[in-house]
Amino acid sequence: MAFVDVYLALGSNLGDREENLRQALLRLDEAFGTHFKAVSRWMESPSWGFEGPAFLNGCVLYRLPRLGAPEEHATWILDRCKAVERSLGRMVEGETDTKGKRIYHDRPIDIDILFYGKETIDSQRLTIPHPGISQREFVRRPLAEIAKPALKAAFPELFD
Ligand code: AMP
Repeated sequence: MAFVDVYLALGSNLGDREENLRQALLRLDEAFGTHFKAVSRWMESPSWGFEGPAFLNGCVLYRLPRLGAPEEHATWILDRCKAVERSLGRMVEGETDTKGKRIYHDRPIDIDILFYGKETIDSQRLTIPHPGISQREFVRRPLAEIAKPALKAAFPELFD
C-alpha cells in the first residue's frame, strides 16, 4: 500500500491551550485511524494578524495510506481537521471582510495542512504547501523539528 506524509500545523489561543492541543491530537488520531508519527514541542508566540492572547503552536506528522487522487484525499483530510476544530468549540472559520481580506479571531484550535507528500495542490478549498509557511516563524520552527530530509529536499526554499 502507498503511504503519504501529511504535515499539519496546530495552534490554540483560547482556554486551556495545552489541553486543546492534546485533545486535537487524540481526535486526529481517531479521525485518521492511526497514531501520529512525530510531534514537535509546543511553542508560544504572539497572536498573528489580530490582537488577542498568545498562541501555543506546534506541528504534527501523520503517515496515511493514500486514498484516491491527491486533491481528493487532501480535501478529505481537511474535512477531518475541520470536524476536529468544530468538536473543540471553534465557531468561526475562514471569515473575510468586505474587501476579501482575511479576518483572524481567537480560537480554541486551528489546524492547517502544511504539506501533503511532495504534492502541490491549488484548488478552491486548498493551497498546499500552505502559503503561510515561509513568513510564519511559529510554523517554521516546530516544523523544522519534525521535517524529514525528503521533505526538506523537495521544498528547500521553505527550509532555509
Ligand atoms: P482556517 O484557517 O482554519 O480558518 O481555514 C480557512 C479555510 O482555508 C479552510 O476552510 C480551507 O478551505 C482554506 N485552506 C486553504 N488552504 C489550506 C490549507 N493548506 N490548510 C487548511 N486550510 C486551507
